[in-house]
Amino acid sequence: MTEKLAIEGGTPVRESYLPYGRQSVDDADIQAVVDVLKSDWLTTGPKVPEYEKAFAACVDAEFAVAVNSGTAALHAAVHAAGIGPGDEVIVTPMTFAASANCVVYAGARPVFVDVQPDTLNIDPGAIERSVTPRTKAIVTVDYTGHPCDYDEIRKVADDHGLKVIEDAAHALGAVYRGAKIGSFNEFVAFSTHPVKHITTGEGGVVVTDDPDSAERLRHFRNHGITTEHRERQNKGGWLYEMVDLGYNYRLPDVLCALGISQLGKLDSWLVRRRSLAAHYTEALAQIPEVRPLAVRSYVQPAWHLYVVQIDLKRMTVDRATVFRALRAENIGVNVHYIPVHYHPFYRERFGTSENLCPIAEAAYDQLVTLPLFPGMSQADLGDVIRAVHKVVHRYRR
Ligand SMILES: *Cc1c(COP(=O)(O)O)cnc(C)c1O
Repeated sequence: MTEKLAIEGGTPVRESYLPYGRQSVDDADIQAVVDVLKSDWLTTGPKVPEYEKAFAACVDAEFAVAVNSGTAALHAAVHAAGIGPGDEVIVTPMTFAASANCVVYAGARPVFVDVQPDTLNIDPGAIERSVTPRTKAIVTVDYTGHPCDYDEIRKVADDHGLKVIEDAAHALGAVYRGAKIGSFNEFVAFSTHPVKHITTGEGGVVVTDDPDSAERLRHFRNHGITTEHRERQNKGGWLYEMVDLGYNYRLPDVLCALGISQLGKLDSWLVRRRSLAAHYTEALAQIPEVRPLAVRSYVQPAWHLYVVQIDLKRMTVDRATVFRALRAENIGVNVHYIPVHYHPFYRERFGTSENLCPIAEAAYDQLVTLPLFPGMSQADLGDVIRAVHKVVHRYRR
């Protein structure tokens, strides 16, 4: 039996729209924020180091530096890694623009290299082939929360003296060969935007094991100034020194309190995300036109996103039609990502164009992100699966 698609005037699978991601905020989170609002310190107060300590402990890192976005975290990491004009930094195109923009902020050149076809994570072999005498670092992205192949990436990095800056915006709680994401690369940047694993509204954190790097990161988020307001107040003085050009990238205490409260729930949310992902994988095995990404045996993904590839050879329509049909069913599908080198800014400034990263580009044409967030119910997931069945049934060859 063929049900009439909502896009063709039929009844949608759901009455209400199911977003692809959504925060969970409870009364304890709200109380934590209210408590800080009633305290003396709305920013640069005691909640900042408390949050940083809790975050570092959570990812098995030595130091954490809280900033006011994931993008600021990447900018700070690139700066602390010593990247500057004339340098090249190798970047994956299968990411949000911020992963490459941070390289441009530093005056350096992003060099896009292709991804592995099954995980869509950066390909260590492609990194090796793109290294030049100007290459200083690699920005990796643990796409969807699946860690990259770090043993191979580490080998290339060590062979050529490159720093690894990990954009772990998707990967809070992920594990690579028994080691938590955040515990082994020079700089690891996280985001706490509402669709990510925990939220502070806007926010980010950089973790590192190197005390000098941690100090550079702290200066960078505070105008390049060596002491913070509270330290000066405690010392009763007015002197401060600006030793570097920094920014105001500070995360207020109000939001650090929210972050502390949210961190306490991360483990249970990871369990939920992994369970939902397992259900998707099992249900989608019945639909050969829709292929989940590969999961390596030696990783535990954090499942920020559940991404599938639509096998267009088996379909009578393109991805855009499948996308619109699922949206019409009130399923908040999305596409992660438009390859960064496709954006007009990169084409114009760096001369990028199609065929630069053919694997990422071919994958992009087939990508659809299905809804996945801890507050999603089993019934919500059932709706997604029903909608995918319905749409594929209508459009399969
Ligand atoms: C969310 C995200 C960022 C940026 O984080 P913001 O907190 O939104 O600035 C960077 N990289 C990736 C891969 C992301 O998903």
